[in-house]
Amino acid sequence: MILIGTINITRTRDRGDFHCPTCGSIREYQLKSRRPFLTLYFIPTVPIGGVEFFVRCGGCGSNWDPAILHADPQEHREQQEIRFGHEAFRSAVLVALEGGALSPQQIETLLRISGRLLPESIDREMLGQLCSSAVQNRITAANYVRSVGRDWHSEQRQFALQAMFVAATAENANPPEVTIRLLAALRDILELSDAEYQAAIEAAIDWDVDTAAD
Ligand SMILES: [Zn+2]
Repeated sequence: MILIGTINITRTRDRGDFHCPTCGSIREYQLKSRRPFLTLYFIPTVPIGGVEFFVRCGGCGSNWDPAILHADPQEHREQQEIRFGHEAFRSAVLVALEGGALSPQQIETLLRISGRLLPESIDREMLGQLCSSAVQNRITAANYVRSVGRDWHSEQRQFALQAMFVAATAENANPPEVTIRLLAALRDILELSDAEYQAAIEAAIDWDVDTAAD
């Protein structure tokens, strides 16, 4: 009796770093090829199909089409930057809303902040829509930042905190105790060191003066 079978032969063809969408960060990958062979007494003899290539993430083990390697990292960074801007702005709005309805001064400040964080600054009407959807969702500023802030890199965390600080102090340069506690909680959520927090607050104070002078 002749033992005949098939086997997939997988080889690693290349290695490198890529942006894994599952991990959400840069990971090592292996470019692998797979080809089915006919085996005779368990020994691969002739190929019975074409070679297929795939990319395996070294972080999570997920497989991808090799086209993922040609995804433009620059484009990805830009998209991440835009998403960050929207998330940071929403965070600032939520921080301002913690004190209840927005005062005219807070609205002015938030509109200025939108010019810094969004590709285009928004108008009162859009801010109003954003506020009402934020209120309807009933997600607190702290929980929102907890959800989205994990994807922010360290510079973005500091920048977001600046925006939230400016939003929190729009009405009153000496914010009430409850606002100070919220900012301290946000520092912990964003895992900023005391030095980073201090630097962010100092930058925020300058930032506010700059924007007010615009
Ligand atoms: Zn991965």
